[in-house]
Amino acid sequence: MSRRVRRALAAPDVCHREPEFVETVGLVRGRLRAVYDEPAHAYVPVLLGGSGTAAVEAMLSLVGPHESTLVLAHGVYGERIAAMLRAQQKPHEVLGAPWTDAVDLDAVARALASGAFRRLAVVHHETTTGRLVDLAALGALATRFAVPMLVDAVSSFGAEELRLAAWNVEAAAGVANKCLHGAPGVSFVLARADALLRPSGATSLTLDLHRHAAAQERGDMAFTLPTHVTHALAEALDEHAERGGWEARRATYAARSAVVRAAALRAGASLLLGDARAYASALTSFRLPPGASYDALHASLKRAGFVIYRGQGALDGRIFRIAVMGDLDGRDLERLAAALGHALG
Ligand SMILES: *Cc1c(COP(=O)(O)O)cnc(C)c1O
Repeated sequence: MSRRVRRALAAPDVCHREPEFVETVGLVRGRLRAVYDEPAHAYVPVLLGGSGTAAVEAMLSLVGPHESTLVLAHGVYGERIAAMLRAQQKPHEVLGAPWTDAVDLDAVARALASGAFRRLAVVHHETTTGRLVDLAALGALATRFAVPMLVDAVSSFGAEELRLAAWNVEAAAGVANKCLHGAPGVSFVLARADALLRPSGATSLTLDLHRHAAAQERGDMAFTLPTHVTHALAEALDEHAERGGWEARRATYAARSAVVRAAALRAGASLLLGDARAYASALTSFRLPPGASYDALHASLKRAGFVIYRGQGALDGRIFRIAVMGDLDGRDLERLAAALGHALG
């Protein structure tokens, strides 16, 4: 976090039912709506206390009990959406593929053409591998077959292109503490206003998106939000806008990731997805060089002041992932490049 956001975290305690905090919630909701410049009031921002998973799960309130969802799963987070629908006992089918494969658009088109599905659920940036799916292409299919998309945008919101209305996105879920540079504890959904007018399909009280939306629209809240974290998110969104919004943030991440990729490749690692263009700006997955140990790499980098991520599932022990979100500067990246060379060299 930047110093400015950290300072906001330490703001005075306020009561979550008092006008001061209602004002903060209003600021955050307005700034969230402005990140992607959608038509005024087409999308309703809904704040939730909880991590990104809570927002994704609450977003599924939009799915009725008998409506079937096609879930694209190319990693842990796509599979998690399927697990949520299973837990909610809602019909769904998973269109999976090896995690390192690109989305098969023809297979998606065939599945949607069957007429069996009322929603298409997709992870924008599948953080398992770093792949950024072609949401514009999926949006074209969602429009052609009139099957709206539910998008897990948790690791892309604020740093990748997201055209909600044009791509037939019914709702997108995001979080404070990834590309927006806030603190963990608050997540959110941007949901199409007309979709919220239908009866809620929630199977949980605390994750009922409609309940939260209705309360927030009348300047109230369903349950206590983490006040300090919400205040810090208001500051982080202000900073995001001042620094040029999602396009500037994407450019910043892309420049950082280029430095990280060059250093990792020099040190003998290789790109898991083979092609640098397949990645989201914020994160890269690398195959470990032959003979290198993930745990040793993690420990060496941690001693130098950097924390990296291991592979999930079958990728554990074979890859490492480096994200470049947050308040970093050029010197941080130079030191990381040197530490990578030292650890793997
Ligand atoms: C981080 C992340 C989530 C949510 O993880 P939490 O630990 O619940 O915040 C969901 N989807 C994607 C794609 C993510 O990267």
